[in-house]
Amino acid sequence: MSTVTMKFGGTSVGSVEALSQAASIVEENAEKWDRLVVVVSAMSGITDALIRGARTAAAGDDQTYRSIVSELRIRHYRVVDGLLTSDGERADLLAMIDGALDEYAAFCHSVYVLGETTSRAMDTISSMGERINARLMAALLRRRGLRSEAVDATELIVTDNTFQNAVPLMDATRQRVEARIGPMLDQSIIPVVTGFMGATEEGITTTLGRGGSDYSAAILGSCVASDEVWTWTDVDGVLTADPRLVVDARVIPVLSYSEVSELAYFGAKVLHPRTLRPLIERGIPLWVKNTFNPTVPGTCIVGEPESVPGTIKAVTAIRGLSMVTIEGRGMIGVPGIAARTFAAVASQGASVLMIVQASSEQSICLIIPTEMAEPVMAAVEEELALELARRDVDRVWAMDDIVIVSAVGWGIRGTPGVAARVFGALSDDDINVIAIAQGSSECSISLLVAAGDAAAAVQQIHSEVIINGTT
Ligand code: ADP
Ligand code: ASP
Ligand code: MG
Repeated sequence: MSTVTMKFGGTSVGSVEALSQAASIVEENAEKWDRLVVVVSAMSGITDALIRGARTAAAGDDQTYRSIVSELRIRHYRVVDGLLTSDGERADLLAMIDGALDEYAAFCHSVYVLGETTSRAMDTISSMGERINARLMAALLRRRGLRSEAVDATELIVTDNTFQNAVPLMDATRQRVEARIGPMLDQSIIPVVTGFMGATEEGITTTLGRGGSDYSAAILGSCVASDEVWTWTDVDGVLTADPRLVVDARVIPVLSYSEVSELAYFGAKVLHPRTLRPLIERGIPLWVKNTFNPTVPGTCIVGEPESVPGTIKAVTAIRGLSMVTIEGRGMIGVPGIAARTFAAVASQGASVLMIVQASSEQSICLIIPTEMAEPVMAAVEEELALELARRDVDRVWAMDDIVIVSAVGWGIRGTPGVAARVFGALSDDDINVIAIAQGSSECSISLLVAAGDAAAAVQQIHSEVIINGTT
């Protein structure tokens, strides 16, 4: 029996035309596969708008969320009016949209009254777009004669309570999916599941992090034992670089799980960084395809790399970072400074993207999101107060506007000359490299550059190493 799980991203379900195209894709594939699970994101821009409404409410603004409600009502009504006009369900769907938006407005009002919001509340608020869209998509599929039902992932994906970045509890999730989705699939009903969200064991809504619908699809795909998971987006597949930065970025036909994990971790927005985890265990291939160009095959992501080791396949950039440096001659050989520093960083919940330590041990540099720089510095200074007073540690300081540029491809570590090619490309353009990290992973080499040099660095590596390297 063949099973596929298909996820449609924000732009793929972001307008009347896109939803209609997505429904056609489902319809066509419903004939080819025995069992089909659909996962949908909110319409493009909706999650941002929902979050903006709640944040402005927390800051004492009682108006912005109200105008957001009006905008969102118009956008969702347009779908019903455009695609489901003569439908018997029309009134129910409009009432569903109103109900969800009224609930959203009520949440924002409480946030406004309290003057603050919690990450727990943000998860309930920010996942409202998925809840509406799953119902619209299921109605659209029914309209086309398919059997379909919307399912909230709060019924399926059980997570821990790390709000805004929850971790799925796979055994519990598998049981729920088997109980709730299994019977639907056995009756050829297509479940349309909300992406992005889950719930704790107690039923409190959580989300899997921004862009998390890819991850939802992989979790569900694994739990229904999909033969394949497909993510439908607005580009032809995983590209050699961000197409907004590099105009001649090309589709990469095949990538390995580890290459893609690295790409996503280092900022390629095309997939959520944790997407591959549930797939690796069961060896399920993932396809990235273009909703608006469905006949091109897209990118296939599989377990085994098949390329020549050391081939750089893609280049990415993560912006908005700061480099926090802890420096001092007295740090040499003092055991435990690094451990205490990292404990202080962890106490702030900051994710460290990269660590650079000079072999002289005179400094430790941590690359973290800029918004965490202040609290992290304060925590490190508190932890190392004694060493600072003794001048074993001279200072803790931050450099902002840092970008990590990463070149990704399997086998980089073991292949001589790869770093030289990357540096050669940058020196051709007089780009200064602040620091480099290589070796922690087989699949990437990362450079730190100033924000002003990032676009040029990506373009240079793309043209000199990727394009010239393959032709
Ligand atoms: P979706 O809503 O379908 O999940 P996203 O906007 O989250 O879509 O991700 C797709 C976008 O990621 C593309 O439109 C593209 O601009 C961007 N992107 C950045 N880097 C890459 C890359 N290396 N390959 C493909 N797309 C990329
Ligand atoms: N709608 C969510 C977001 O914008 C999840 C997703 O699109 O994958 O982050
Ligand atoms: Mg996405």
